[in-house]
Amino acid sequence: MVLRRRELMSDTNLADLIFDPALDDCVLPFAIEALDVRGRLVRLGPAIDTIVARHGFPAPVARLAGEAATLALLLGSSLKTEGRFILQTQSDGPVSLMVVDYQLPDRLRATIRFDRAAVQEAGNGAGSAVLLGTGHLAMTIDQGGGGNRYQGVVALEGDGLQAAAHTYFRQSEQIPTRLRLAGGELMGKGTGRSHWRAGGLMVQHFPESASAPRDLPPGDAPQGFEEIERDDDDRWVEAVSLVDTLEDHELTDPGIAAGTVLRRLFNEHDTAVFDPLAIREECRCSQQQVKAMLASFPPDERGDPNADGLIEVTCEFCSTTYRLDPDEVEAYAQAAASREDAGD
Ligand SMILES: [Zn+2]
Repeated sequence: MVLRRRELMSDTNLADLIFDPALDDCVLPFAIEALDVRGRLVRLGPAIDTIVARHGFPAPVARLAGEAATLALLLGSSLKTEGRFILQTQSDGPVSLMVVDYQLPDRLRATIRFDRAAVQEAGNGAGSAVLLGTGHLAMTIDQGGGGNRYQGVVALEGDGLQAAAHTYFRQSEQIPTRLRLAGGELMGKGTGRSHWRAGGLMVQHFPESASAPRDLPPGDAPQGFEEIERDDDDRWVEAVSLVDTLEDHELTDPGIAAGTVLRRLFNEHDTAVFDPLAIREECRCSQQQVKAMLASFPPDERGDPNADGLIEVTCEFCSTTYRLDPDEVEAYAQAAASREDAGD
């Protein structure tokens, strides 16, 4: 994917697009040269609302889903290749497991396992810190087609998703990073039905100096890690303080266009924006994929057939139920095994 760099105000087409509040379900990359900063803004409307509605999430879980989806898009959309970015949490709070699966360039799906009674007890205002508790957050990049798989893991220490993401960047990426995540419910006018929205913004410091942190490989902290953590470059300090002034509602309000958020936030500086990337909610499951998955299990672990003699499998991401003939699954398993033998 090649993004064309264009100035915020000089290109009328792009300006029309990014200053239109109707631009939704998108990632908008930007850069501010004067601050040595590159960033991305995420704005989610129908995509996150569909995920929430599909699963019937209670309000706190819906908000968390929005924040997690936003985080996955902020991080995953920086990948240059096709592939998948998977964000997963496993923890001891009311939400025990969460998976956001972002298939580049545009497909998003998510599933969350939670204890409904415990979520209710935590209260409507419960944030990600309370919902997740302690555990870990894993981020996997799967380049597909036999390419590399890279996983970064960071501890969830009871202070929520945003804090864990900051820790991840300090420990694994060594790129000074500041981000904001927000999810919110919007009451529909007259319809009585509310809609869920989410949004977020991330800035990263890429100083011009020769020892720029971006040149360091991912992995263990190298020498000089402490210096990176104490990034007190005036321009970076300014960028961080600006990002910290953002209010959650500015990230989720459908009436405030993406370009307006950036213009308000960085009004002292020229901001370059790149073409937005459109995002949609769509599952990748299929009858064929479910058959292959079942065939990989021994016959007695494929589940009991229903009254019609079919095995039922429901996709955790989109709740589609597939019904498969056990004999067909077995035939598939044997065909796969003989192909493997032939390959040896
Ligand atoms: Zn599915």
